[in-house]
Amino acid sequence: MLSIQKLRASVEGQEILKGIDLEVLPGEVHAIMGPNGSGKSTLAHVLAGHPSYEVREGAVVLDKKNVLDMSPDERAQRGLFLAFQYPVEVPGVSVTKFLKHAHDARFKDDEKRRFASVLDFRKYLQKVAAELEVKESLLKRGLNEGFSGGEKKRLEILQMAVLEPSFALLDETDSGLDIDAIKAVSRGVKKIVKKFGTGIVVITHYQRILKYLKPDFVHIMVKGKIVRHGGIELARELEKTGYKEWQDQ
Ligand code: ADP
Ligand code: MG
Repeated sequence: MLSIQKLRASVEGQEILKGIDLEVLPGEVHAIMGPNGSGKSTLAHVLAGHPSYEVREGAVVLDKKNVLDMSPDERAQRGLFLAFQYPVEVPGVSVTKFLKHAHDARFKDDEKRRFASVLDFRKYLQKVAAELEVKESLLKRGLNEGFSGGEKKRLEILQMAVLEPSFALLDETDSGLDIDAIKAVSRGVKKIVKKFGTGIVVITHYQRILKYLKPDFVHIMVKGKIVRHGGIELARELEKTGYKEWQDQ
C-alpha cells in the first residue's frame, strides 16, 4: 500500500503542494485530475525524489517505510515506478540494454530474478512486449530515439511490466495519443494491475482514458490540494463544468 500523508512541498521557495493525503491499496486504480499548474507533476517529482523539490512536511509510506528518506534508486528498488510527462531520449543506449539494466537494479537483491545475459533477457522481453502489443523492432532502437508519442508511452508500459512495481504513477500518459494507442496503453496497465497487484495513480486531463481504465477513485487537485474525491462520475461531471467552481475561490 502507498500512503501519502499531509504532504507539503515547495519549489524555489514557493509552496506548491499544500497538504496532500492519498491512500492507494494494491490493485486499485486512482485518477488525479486538475487544472494546469495545480501541482500534479510536482507530486510525481516529489515521489521520484527530484532534488529541486523540497519536502516541507509529511510522509509517503510504501510498505511501512517512508520513501522520502530514500535515494531515488532505492525507491525504484522498493517498487516505486514513475512515468513522466516528457520521457527522455537516450540515443545509443538500446531499449533492451536500458530495460535489462533497470530490471537488474530493481531485483538487485534477488539473484534468481536477474538475467545472466542480454540474450536471456531479450527472450523474456520479447515475450512481455508481445503481451503488451509493443512492436519488437522498437526493442533494438536507441531509447526513445525518434519514437512517436505513442511509441514512447507504450515503451513506458513495457518498462513498467518489466519492473513489476508495487506502486506506479503515470503523468499524462494519454496526452497526445491517438485512440488506438490510448486503448493499448489502458489494456497494458490493466494487465499489469491484474498480474502484479500494482496500485496505480494516473494523472490525466481527459475522460477518454478513464473510460477504458475504469478507475476506482477520481481525485481533483486544485492549487496544491485535493479538493474532491469521487468515482468516475466526477470525471464526467468535470467534462461539463470544468474547474470553475474551485478556481474562483
Ligand atoms: P501540473 O502538473 O498540475 O500542471 P506542475 O506541478 O507542473 O502542475 O506545476 C505547479 C506549479 O509549480 C507551477 O506554477 C510551476 O510553474 C511550478 N513548478 C513546478 N516545477 C518547477 C520547477 N522545477 N521550477 C520552478 N517552478 C516549478
Ligand atoms: Mg503536469
